[in-house]
Amino acid sequence: MEPPQYFDQALVRDLESRFRVSNLLDWLEQEAETIADLAYAVGSGVDPFRQSLHRVRNIAEIRPGRPGSLIGEHAHIVPEGRQYVVHYRMNLSTNKRRFSVAHEIGHTYFFDPNDPGKPISPFQSSVSGLATIERLCDFFAESVLLPRRHVVSAVVKDGAVALPPLHLIKSLAQEYRVDDKVVARRLLFRLFPRNVAILMLRRRMTIPKGKGGRGEWMVSWCAAPWELREAHSVKGIRVPFLSEARTIPSDMIPMLSSGVTEHCELDGRWWDGVRAQSTRESGTAFKHRLPKRAQSAFACRLRLPLFEHVERLGRMDLESKPEGGPDEVIYIALLLHATQSDVVQQ
Ligand SMILES: [Zn+2]
Repeated sequence: MEPPQYFDQALVRDLESRFRVSNLLDWLEQEAETIADLAYAVGSGVDPFRQSLHRVRNIAEIRPGRPGSLIGEHAHIVPEGRQYVVHYRMNLSTNKRRFSVAHEIGHTYFFDPNDPGKPISPFQSSVSGLATIERLCDFFAESVLLPRRHVVSAVVKDGAVALPPLHLIKSLAQEYRVDDKVVARRLLFRLFPRNVAILMLRRRMTIPKGKGGRGEWMVSWCAAPWELREAHSVKGIRVPFLSEARTIPSDMIPMLSSGVTEHCELDGRWWDGVRAQSTRESGTAFKHRLPKRAQSAFACRLRLPLFEHVERLGRMDLESKPEGGPDEVIYIALLLHATQSDVVQQ
């Protein structure tokens, strides 16, 4: 896997020469796999990742930070003597805590081994250098939490390699204790790469069943390829699904059978929703836009497992509580045929 173009190329080349590797991402994936293997060898009883990361990456301790010490971040890493301590925010979900801690441990690769806390490369101090390091640590975190060999064999065993395995996202997320968005990115941007943007929709009951029952589909999250995501950060550009238009007009929701990934043709407005919009176009409310020519996508409708349903109900007020069976989600992968340059240059 080649480091993407918008990575700081001088930093990537410098790191590759320091680590004496020919491909930084492949090497980091390999490192993550070694740690994951060790974790599985340690076995159950303790959190295996915690155990093995301690051993391999010179981590003295992983502990909650003092209240108020972590502002605007989930976790951070600080040198303590010759080792490191990772602090995480107290109120994170288990999934987010695991990802944040793994991300921080990724940072140990980019510190000077002889001077803990000091960047290993002078190119890390630039804005693009810092951003590249953050992406590399995210890459390390998803690689260590969703080990390549395990995930690939789960998909191959499922037998549906021809279609993007959207129907496996939820079960893999539960098995490996990561957010389903992390699984989606890992599957469709790395291990079985497709040129797609991925969305998760969740149905929310706006009128309870006893009073006629009506639900609407909301976009929970949208995972775009790195290139597309970078475009979001350009000031003045907004992605409709990530900002104003999370509720999807009902005529855009495809008919799907439950539990399988299907190829389908979707209204072109879906693509508007994941693309950065010009100022002129975003002036039109998303739900008032006219249907557009259909394009190719993959989609999967899944019932939420009961325990997650119950857990969610516990946090909901009575008025919005859906009645009847378990809730449902839809995963959609929109094929992005055009190159990303039209998006990035807007
Ligand atoms: Zn970081």
